Amino acid sequence: MNYYSTNRQAPMASLEEAVVKGLAADKGLFMPESIRPLPQAFYDTIDSLSFQEIAYHVADAFFGEDIPVDALKHIVYDTLNFDTPLVPVDKDIYSLELFHGPTLAFKDVGARFMARLLGYFIRKEGMQQTVNVLVATSGDTGSAVANGFLGVEGIHVYVLYPKGKVSKIQEKQFTTLGQNITALEVAGTFDDCQALVKAAFMDQRLNHRFVLTSANSINVARFLPQAFYYFYAYAQLKRLGKADNLVVSVPSGNFGNITAGLFAKRMGLPIRRFIAANNRNDVFYQYLRTGQYTPQPSIATIANAMDVGDPSNFVRVLDLYCRSHSAISTNIAGATYTNEQIRETVADTWKRHHYLLDPHGACGYRALQENLRPGETGIFLETAHPAKFLRTVEDIIGQPVEIPAKLQAFMKGEKKSIRIGKSFEEFRHYLRKHASK
Ligand SMILES: *Cc1c(COP(=O)(O)O)cnc(C)c1O
Repeated sequence: MNYYSTNRQAPMASLEEAVVKGLAADKGLFMPESIRPLPQAFYDTIDSLSFQEIAYHVADAFFGEDIPVDALKHIVYDTLNFDTPLVPVDKDIYSLELFHGPTLAFKDVGARFMARLLGYFIRKEGMQQTVNVLVATSGDTGSAVANGFLGVEGIHVYVLYPKGKVSKIQEKQFTTLGQNITALEVAGTFDDCQALVKAAFMDQRLNHRFVLTSANSINVARFLPQAFYYFYAYAQLKRLGKADNLVVSVPSGNFGNITAGLFAKRMGLPIRRFIAANNRNDVFYQYLRTGQYTPQPSIATIANAMDVGDPSNFVRVLDLYCRSHSAISTNIAGATYTNEQIRETVADTWKRHHYLLDPHGACGYRALQENLRPGETGIFLETAHPAKFLRTVEDIIGQPVEIPAKLQAFMKGEKKSIRIGKSFEEFRHYLRKHASK
C-alpha cells in the first residue's frame, strides 16, 4: 500500500520509505492511501479471538500487501507478548489497562511494533548501514522506544533527555540498557533536546553519512498499531454483552493514540463516539468550541505526557475528516481538566472504587463520568501505570503505592549516560565520532 503526505506536495511513499523516513519530504505526515473496512464476519466472531489474532487481522488490513503472512504474524505476536485487559471501575465505565508492557505505558505497543517492522526491512534489504534512531524524550517516549528497540540488529538508538528533568524511574528505564541503546544527557530542557534532533535531521552532511530516523508517533509504524487494542477492547466488551453504544475516552497529548482509534472506527469498529481528554493544554478542545486551531506554548501539568501545545497528529485528524469541523465535532467530544481536578479525580476514584488512576487516565475517566449518556458504555484508556508517577499519586492518596516488579528491576540497573551540552555543534561532533555507518 502507498502512503501520501497530508501536505500533498511530496510523492507517494512505499511502507518501507514511510517507516524509514518518518516525515514526508514536504514536512507532512504519511497517511495510508486506503483504510480497508474489516468484514462483518470478523466482527461477528471477534469475541472468540485472542488479542494477537485480532491484532493480526487489523495489521493485515494495513500491512498485508507489503509483508508476507508469516513475517507479519511474527511481528504482531512478538510485539503483543502482554495483555491489555478491560477492568470495570464504575457503573458502565471500564478501564482499558495499557500498562502491562515492559515500560508500563501504552507507547510500548507502537515502539515494539515499529522496532520489529524496521528490523524486518533491514534484514530483507540486506542493509549494510546501521539505522540510527534519534529520539528526544521528556520521559515516557524514551523508555518505550529504548526498550522496544533493545537488541534489534542493524539499529542503534540515541535517547536525548534533559538532565535533571526526568524522574529517577524514567531515567533508569533508558540509561541502564546498554547494547544498542545510548543515552545522551543534555544540559538543557526537553525543547533543547527536540531542537537537537530536528537539527540533525536537517543537516545534509550528517544525513549523507548516516541513516537517521525518528520514532515518535508521526511514524506510521508507531501510530497505526495502536489501533489493535481498540478492537480487543470491543471484543472484551462483547463477551460481557455490553458492546452497544460504546464511547471511548482517550487521554490525549500528541493525538497519536486517539487517531489510531479513529482509524479503527473507519474500519468499521462500532464505536459511537470518542472523547479527547486533555489537561490544561487544550488547543483541541478550543478547536472544537470555536472552529479555530491556535497552537499554544505548552503548560507544565501533573499529567506531563500530555503537555503538548501543538499536537502533531492533529493534521491526521483533519485529513481523515476532510477538514470538516462539523464531522470532527460529531465524532469527537472534548474535555479539559486542571491539576486540581485531576487530583480530585484520582483521590475520589481511589476512595469510592479502590481503583488507582494515574494522572493521565484520570482525565479520561472524568471525561466519561461527565459525558456518558444513559444507555452508553464507556471505556477510558489507562495509558500508564500509576507507579510511574509515584510522588504525585502517593501525595494525592496519602499512602504508599506498590511498585511493580518490572519497574523495580530497572531501579537495580546501573545508570550509564553521556553528558553533552545543548549546542548542535557538540551533538554533531558526537554523532560523527561515535555513530555507526
Ligand atoms: C504519550 C502519553 C499520552 C499521550 O498520547 P498521545 O498519543 O501523544 O496523544 C498520554 N498518557 C501517557 C501516560 C503518555 O505517555
